[in-house]
Amino acid sequence: MGTQRFDVLVVGGGISGVSIAYEIARTRSVALIEMEAALAYHTSGRSMATFLETYGSPAIRALTSGSRAAFEHPPDVMDGPLLSPLGMLWLAGAGEADQIRRLYDEVRPVVPDARLVTPAEAVRINPLLRPGYPELGLFEPGATEIDVHALHQGYVRGLRRRGGEVRLSARLVAAERRDGRWQVTDAAGTRYEAQVLVDAAGSWVDEVARAAGATPVGIRPLRRTAFLVAPPAGLPVRGLPLTGTVTSTWYVMPQGDLLACSPAEQTLLEPCDAKPDEVQIARALEEINAATILGARSIRSPWAGLRNFVPDGNPVVGWDPRAEGFFWYAAQGGYGMQIAPALSRTGAALLEGRDVDPDLLARGLEPADLSPAREGMSVSAEH
Ligand SMILES: Cc1cc2nc3c(=O)[nH]c(=O)nc-3n(C[C@H](O)[C@H](O)[C@H](O)COP(=O)(O)OP(=O)(O)OC[C@H]3O[C@@H](n4cnc5c(N)ncnc54)[C@H](O)[C@@H]3O)c2cc1C
Repeated sequence: MGTQRFDVLVVGGGISGVSIAYEIARTRSVALIEMEAALAYHTSGRSMATFLETYGSPAIRALTSGSRAAFEHPPDVMDGPLLSPLGMLWLAGAGEADQIRRLYDEVRPVVPDARLVTPAEAVRINPLLRPGYPELGLFEPGATEIDVHALHQGYVRGLRRRGGEVRLSARLVAAERRDGRWQVTDAAGTRYEAQVLVDAAGSWVDEVARAAGATPVGIRPLRRTAFLVAPPAGLPVRGLPLTGTVTSTWYVMPQGDLLACSPAEQTLLEPCDAKPDEVQIARALEEINAATILGARSIRSPWAGLRNFVPDGNPVVGWDPRAEGFFWYAAQGGYGMQIAPALSRTGAALLEGRDVDPDLLARGLEPADLSPAREGMSVSAEH
């Protein structure tokens, strides 16, 4: 087959790739290539699917709260509703109350209904907690669960309706800039030509950059494990909030009649098909049993995924400062689902040279916070 020509070629079929491809396809011809035989096989198929406005850096909080309207009123390509009620209870163990107070001070302006809760209130909100365990709590009543399948599928459907194309089993192996266009080859030997290459390859963004002759940003794929436990007979879990420690040592949330738990670990790995960590599971189970009345002895269906970060915890979105036509859409960390609507709109605006949504600026987002050329990126450190 000859070379296939597009305005924009997006690499990666997780939530990042499909959402930015959908936004760009409004004005340009777009193809998305995914190395696996199915979309969302890696991190996007392994998330906890929560929407937390009290979570992450100020830029992440701005992108999350700026995404809420899009989740509540999704475009008609998405099968709604996308959100269902959850609530989030952050807990401070002995000596950690100051961390909860600091978090409260930081989030108050963006999440006005977040409130500090006493130990007794914390146990009323989540009766699984062992009385006397938390020293202090912070409750975010508006935290929700996201139907991440409907979200991802909706973006894919919308992309196709806008004339975009999706290619599976198409791993980018080489990309060369010639006469103002990218000449791209995938592992099957198929060739593509595009003015713009969007790197949305999750844990592999630096590999894709290297293949295109761009300087890596230094992505850090951090493994996070999760597993299910059954509550003791007769103990209903539906309606309980997501509950976790402010120091990120474990969290628990209802999933149907079971509880989904995580050791919340952040173990640096090479990009890979991540597998759960038994040692972390054992540690988390012990700590969860100490903090709750669950008394869980066994676990089910463990899984793991890689959350991809750069040091400041913000995404990396924008033109590479040196590789012409190379656009970064990386480092969505532990927030790729909850920020997808606002981040993909921002990415499309930056790619098309438009202004960033003033609503996001009013929420405190600085486009410089996302720049691939900002302080701490390998691409800025090199020169
Ligand atoms: C346990 C866990 C819980 C989480 N919970 C939440 C949560 O509650 N809320 C939330 O918002 N976020 C959560 N996250 C984070 C969220 O899942 C991620 O931010 C998001 O899925 C990242 O999406 P992505 O598209 O960037 O990466 P991925 O989904 O990994 O997609 C990247 C894609 O690029 C493809 N690719 C790589 N190299 C190439 C190549 N050379 N050619 C073609 N394709 C290539 C890969 O195959 C992959 O499909 C969680 C993550 C984990 C692991």
